[in-house]
Amino acid sequence: MKRREFIKLSGFWGAAGVAAPSVFLSGCASKPLPGSGDVTITPTVCDICFWKCAAHVHTENGRPWKIVGNVNDPHSEGRLCTRGTGGNGAYLDRDRLKEPLMRVSDGGKARFEPVSWAKALDVIAERMQSIASKHGNDRIAMLAHGSGGVHFERLLQAFGSHIYAHPSYAQCRGPREIAFALTYGEGVGSPDRTDMANSKCIVLIGSHIGENLHNGQVQILTKALNNGASLITVDPRFSVAASKSEHWLPIRPGTDIALLLAWMNVIINEGLYDHGYVERYTTGFEQLRDHVQPFNPEWAYLETGLKPEQIRKTARLMALHAPATLVHPGRHTTWYGDDTQRVRAIAMLNALLGSWGREGGFYIQENVTIPEYETPPIPKPKHDWKKKVQSQFPLAPSGISQEIIEAAIGDDAQVKGLFVYGTNLPMTIPNISEKLKQAADSLDLVVVVETQPAEVTGYADIILPECTYLERYDALRNAPERIPTLALRMPAYKPRYDSKPGWWMVKQLAERLDLGAYFPWNDYSEVLDWQLKQVGSSLEEMQRIGVKRFPRKTAMYFKPNEKRKFPTPSGKIELYSKMLAGNGFDPMPRYTPPEEAPAGFYRLIYGRGAAHTFGRTTNNPLLFELMPENTVWVNPIAAAEHKLLNGSYIKLKNQDGVVSNKIRVRVTERIAPNAVFMVHGFGHTSKKMRLTQGVGADDASLMINVKVDPISGGTGMRSNFVTFEKVLS
Ligand code: SF4
Repeated sequence: MKRREFIKLSGFWGAAGVAAPSVFLSGCASKPLPGSGDVTITPTVCDICFWKCAAHVHTENGRPWKIVGNVNDPHSEGRLCTRGTGGNGAYLDRDRLKEPLMRVSDGGKARFEPVSWAKALDVIAERMQSIASKHGNDRIAMLAHGSGGVHFERLLQAFGSHIYAHPSYAQCRGPREIAFALTYGEGVGSPDRTDMANSKCIVLIGSHIGENLHNGQVQILTKALNNGASLITVDPRFSVAASKSEHWLPIRPGTDIALLLAWMNVIINEGLYDHGYVERYTTGFEQLRDHVQPFNPEWAYLETGLKPEQIRKTARLMALHAPATLVHPGRHTTWYGDDTQRVRAIAMLNALLGSWGREGGFYIQENVTIPEYETPPIPKPKHDWKKKVQSQFPLAPSGISQEIIEAAIGDDAQVKGLFVYGTNLPMTIPNISEKLKQAADSLDLVVVVETQPAEVTGYADIILPECTYLERYDALRNAPERIPTLALRMPAYKPRYDSKPGWWMVKQLAERLDLGAYFPWNDYSEVLDWQLKQVGSSLEEMQRIGVKRFPRKTAMYFKPNEKRKFPTPSGKIELYSKMLAGNGFDPMPRYTPPEEAPAGFYRLIYGRGAAHTFGRTTNNPLLFELMPENTVWVNPIAAAEHKLLNGSYIKLKNQDGVVSNKIRVRVTERIAPNAVFMVHGFGHTSKKMRLTQGVGADDASLMINVKVDPISGGTGMRSNFVTFEKVLS
């Protein structure tokens, strides 16, 4: 089916209207003090990022007032971050999607037309059935990021399609999860099982906690520092975390494996490792000892630019506090294409320090066992879809988003239908726009479920407007962590416009597809009430308290000298990985020097800012006010060389000639002279995101040189270089 033309999101609402809602930022002139009216308090779980802090929504006289942390929630410690307190902006956003939209062709020109829910769902169900009858039931894929994705995943599995990926794997945490699984038999998980509250020494490698405002983690790091923990930060940028550090190691970008090998060299050769732990729990120590011998601090100095005495001093500091030393595993780990090996080196360093399963290192997570609502069993897949879609990554435990898109291109493509839930693919997966267009041209069905008119909606056949997290029930929060808890998200407001919750859309589709038996309830609150009653609570109780704590059933740390079998092939912590060797990969982390920048170019480093969660929040009016645009950090040496003035606008041009939108220069010594830094999530092109469209620059559009990690399939994005172009006024 060759029929798609990417629809730029301009004017597709037509007469449907985008008038500012009456509740939108209506001002505060001569009003009584907030809270003196009729106040209602409703529990929720924040969805502005994926940390999932429990909160209470306060409305006054039926209008939004404020959102505050739930004091019973150990995960958020009763506080929200800046973004979470701005959650009402998502509800109030005048630009949010308002009704189902369908692609129509008008005189050869494609546009979106508002349609009823019944029409939108009928068309989706018909096309799914048509794909099934022509190609089989197992040819529809899903790419998702966010809570409501689980409902669509279940629907597609009941239909017979299991092809599923979260961009949070191949574009973020994938290398970390696979590296720890290869070493310890299990990943770090989310929330991270780091026991920073009890750490005496914390090492952050490119992990900018404090700008990455994962709330509970920031609070715990602050507590640890107040308790006197030593902080070592490795970052070419003087980040917020670096500014709080006892040791800041401004490493040459791309040389982290060299530093990690040198640290292990010192710890092994000076006999500083945890001998008992290594002997009892690990396999492959001798191979590791031999492997690190050439990589002493003097060798590492030439690669990293870090002085040998600084490398030795920090290695000894880590060993001094072990096992209460945490070498943080990081979170966004897709950097240079050797990312699984880099994070494996981090995992191995932690093993030498004996910190996995120990107080102050990594604790053992636990969640609540809640039964599944009774339905017929989901039919087992007839074949392993990963062998067809991503066979070159046999060790990858999860779907790889860019491979699924690739598998949707062409007449004989494996993937024939695609659901996209809550993930703005063009700004999430580097260098994907062209492939996405080709895939959209080949696919028989593209459904996008979104709250806002993000760029990805332009590829859809049908756009389904989901109501925001403040207007719906979702599955219970049951994340594995220190204290098992359940938390409830429930509607604080009725859905605005003609938006609906994801569970409602799925239930309607299931009935059209004769799959209603998998969703045998009328309202999702029935599922929640049933599940809660199985664990001694109820929906009524959770509507009052929002968060319920449960006792732990297992120990949080290893017992002294405990015998332990790890879920690896050997039952030990694998310093030498036979699994990697058997699949043709280096069983030990190997250092490859990074590519050099072309003359006059600077390595592009990106990260988060405290006011936003990627591009998901830049059009949120409350958060936009806090940070309306991003800036590019440029060292004074580079600024002088290119005659750049602080505060002026420039454009960035990458090594392949791709030019960004204009972006303001921030001249600062906080970035290394050979690199630039910008916050991700700006530079939207969707004209329907009226606050943020065209404001700031999009880093993802400059990432043409993508280094795919051969082990995890993660897209390494830090191999791009930019120079500066003047903006003509
Ligand atoms: Fe919400 Fe902030 Fe918690 Fe994320 S860290 S869930 S944005 S309060």
